Amino acid sequence: MHQGAVETAIPRYHQSLDFEALWREFPPAPDYFSSTYRLSRDELRALQEQRFLREMGRAWQIPFYRRHWAAAGMQPGDIRSLDDLAKVPPFSVHDLRASVSSDPPWADYIGIDPDEHAPLPLILQTSGGTTGLPRPMIFTPRDREVMNIITGRRLYMQGVRPFDLVQVALSMGLTNGGVLAREGIWKYTGAVPVMTGSGAQTPTRRQIELIKAWKAKFLIGFPAYLRHMGLVARDELKIDPRELSVKGLIVHLGLEDRASLEALWGADAYDTYGCNECGTMAAECTHKSGMHVFEDAFVLEVNDPDTLQPKPEAERGVVFITTLFKYAAPMIRYNMNDVTALAGGECACGNVHRRISKIFGRSDNMVKLRGVNVFPEAIGAIVGEDKRTNGEYVCVLEGGEGERESMTVMVETADQGAPPHDIEAELANRLKEALGVRLKVQAVQRGGLDHLTGLSQTSKIRRLIDRRQPTSS
Ligand SMILES: [Zn+2]
Repeated sequence: MHQGAVETAIPRYHQSLDFEALWREFPPAPDYFSSTYRLSRDELRALQEQRFLREMGRAWQIPFYRRHWAAAGMQPGDIRSLDDLAKVPPFSVHDLRASVSSDPPWADYIGIDPDEHAPLPLILQTSGGTTGLPRPMIFTPRDREVMNIITGRRLYMQGVRPFDLVQVALSMGLTNGGVLAREGIWKYTGAVPVMTGSGAQTPTRRQIELIKAWKAKFLIGFPAYLRHMGLVARDELKIDPRELSVKGLIVHLGLEDRASLEALWGADAYDTYGCNECGTMAAECTHKSGMHVFEDAFVLEVNDPDTLQPKPEAERGVVFITTLFKYAAPMIRYNMNDVTALAGGECACGNVHRRISKIFGRSDNMVKLRGVNVFPEAIGAIVGEDKRTNGEYVCVLEGGEGERESMTVMVETADQGAPPHDIEAELANRLKEALGVRLKVQAVQRGGLDHLTGLSQTSKIRRLIDRRQPTSS
């Protein structure tokens, strides 16, 4: 039935949330650094405890969890404290995908029903969606503001201050990266976002001209793209990136070589960890000694992927994330499939929040090749160490269906001159040494992989191309 304009209630963003109360609960920068950032482990645990129980209460109202938890025989009374967290059955992206298929985009992990709930100002963003339709996530004002506050904290921690220009070379579209960066910078740092987007939105040369003309102090982007941008500046435009105004590179560093990226730009690179569902979860401070988890908003576990038992410090496991703030779609023990390790010791900044060392790769990106587990990211790290390449690479998987499976690592040469044959043979040996499995290496001219990786066009760069024949069974 169509309702007339007069009686339709339109929710207003600024009336949909008690901002003062939210800021007391999740202090934005700089207040955060004199309050929550300084809590002891015990105080932090008490805060997490109370927020965790509230989040569990909300999750029990959501069909996805009622279904998932009932199937595992869990009752609402079973979880009485954070100590019981390990009893909650985890879920992964596969469970989310199954939940979307029934009534997209109102997947049953989103606890808002347009037929029942009062209208709320909502935002929809998605996962990258490399296969099939992208996975939607819907955010309420509370969800969104906490994510924005955390973006602001992280950037403040990495040196961003009011009136700084922050150039964001992440796609502006369905995925959260660029949009979320803009909201956080604008609302909670006083700095000015410059949304150049990916290379398809603003060509790389134009991105560099803008940095030069407007003097951006910080760049946000994927490290491979910022490396590409630095090389285009240096080698094609004859502009030395070190002489530009940039003093910080804000990236998901992973296994990318920090030292060479920093040397190229003459700027510090700070590692950051986040996802579409939760926004930023952890980030490095200027001491660069592991990424501080924002533990007032998340409980981050590093667990063995098979036994689900917690891993001791410095041992690699997969990330399970539990949100402590989300309303529309709380994430309770979401197995991110990202491989990391808890960092030991204390950071010089004095903060005692848990830290993770770095993200070593995504376990669902892992390829099992003749019995050996291979991460494309680990291959990239080895390629990056060979200065005869420019660090660009893509792994192509072939074979299957009776044929022996093989991987070819395609790399770009740094200069025109280097004989590709030497690089190919030596790099293949180096990879065999490091990974324990023989891969083919094929060197191509600089820029020759762009059509495969999408480097200059998208911020979702492809590192693995699977051309294997599916097994017919
Ligand atoms: Zn620190």
